[in-house]
Amino acid sequence: QSGANDLQTEADRLVQMSICASLARKFPKVTIIGEEDLPPHDVAEELIEDGHCEEILKKPCPPQYTGIKEEELVIWVDPLDGTKEYTEGLLDHVTVLIGIAYGGKAIAGVINQPYYNYEAGADAVLGRTIWGVLGMGAFGFELTEAPAGKHIIVTTRSHSSPLVNDCITALNPDTVIRVGGAGNKVIQLIEGKASAYVFASPGCKKWDTCAPEAILHAVGGKITDIHGNSFHYNKEVKHMNSAGVLATLRNYDYYASRIPNTVKQSLVP
Ligand code: AMP
Ligand code: MG
Ligand code: MG
Repeated sequence: QSGANDLQTEADRLVQMSICASLARKFPKVTIIGEEDLPPHDVAEELIEDGHCEEILKKPCPPQYTGIKEEELVIWVDPLDGTKEYTEGLLDHVTVLIGIAYGGKAIAGVINQPYYNYEAGADAVLGRTIWGVLGMGAFGFELTEAPAGKHIIVTTRSHSSPLVNDCITALNPDTVIRVGGAGNKVIQLIEGKASAYVFASPGCKKWDTCAPEAILHAVGGKITDIHGNSFHYNKEVKHMNSAGVLATLRNYDYYASRIPNTVKQSLVP
């Protein structure tokens, strides 16, 4: 554990070692940035994944990406997003996030939800993988619109503050859903459970937003900080999204135009 607000479990460490070492072996020139600070050491061979998905590789690569060189990519890894909820047994809040950036832009992402369906009974398939590429679309879920005319806000469950709550109140929500994880919250948007993800606080990092951003943008949504600035994912960028998060599948402008100036003034990008 590295602080009450910033837990790290054995699961976070093992998953990051597995993902980062597997990617580094296959793509040695890619820059990989994982959330956890791990001492450099050899990763057990059983943690190395070297398979691939035939079905995905059959899909044509969007032409604007065919010339990309390995060394031009930055991969942002959150081995376990929603760790706080994981430690409390809210297993379906947990996601594993792998985001791929090129030219500072999130262009592809994977949101794996290892415990999806964990309460759905023995017949249900446990876990799922949602993935997407800008210019190709997103897969592994059913794109669903949120109820029209309702303002359903999804926000943090375990990192609230007066500012976070003041901002939500100013948006006049019909409903506020409090769940863990940035990945999980973007899932709520693309599955029509929520109309906006609003988090007026620092705390969320680039590995939290890169994969969800690529998937959300691939289906026509939008994610920015609370001021409306896009996120950048080049390797030199500051990790913290200091000015919070505002994301929607539709009607981004409605929510952006209602963020109070007092909230904006409290969050410096
Ligand atoms: P949440 O919406 O609270 O689940 O946060 C989304 C992501 O941002 C998670 O990876 C959190 O760990 C991280 N995060 C948000 N706020 C904070 C904070 N105050 N301190 C540490 N991590 C945070
Ligand atoms: Mg996270
Ligand atoms: Mg994490």
